[in-house]
Amino acid sequence: MQRPVEFKLKLYCCPSVECLKEYKSKFNLRKHFQMCHLGKTFHECRICKKHFASQQILREHIYRHSGAKPYKCHLCGNKYRQYSHLSLHRRQHNLRYLNALEVEELQTESELEELN
Ligand SMILES: [Zn+2]
Ligand SMILES: [Zn+2]
Ligand SMILES: [Zn+2]
Repeated sequence: MQRPVEFKLKLYCCPSVECLKEYKSKFNLRKHFQMCHLGKTFHECRICKKHFASQQILREHIYRHSGAKPYKCHLCGNKYRQYSHLSLHRRQHNLRYLNALEVEELQTESELEELN
């Protein structure tokens, strides 16, 4: 039985039969496969070309390049680069407030914003 001619190309071929796209690197093939065949989307950083699973993670990654800290605490003015950092910080305020406002009515978040 004769074997089909093997091309010794250094290309990585997409395993999908309808597609068979070729890529020079395994990484690009995997990216293509996940994007086109598994329906995953990648969010690429234009600066360092890294890929991120969500738009939110990419946005916060780009702040790292630009040095921007867009998340500001309404209560004390501290700035944070990541939303998770701000919400952690805000939790500390809330704890403090809960202790301080034992008798007073708790202010809603929107009221606190107006104060600033
Ligand atoms: Zn493919
Ligand atoms: Zn980047
Ligand atoms: Zn604060």
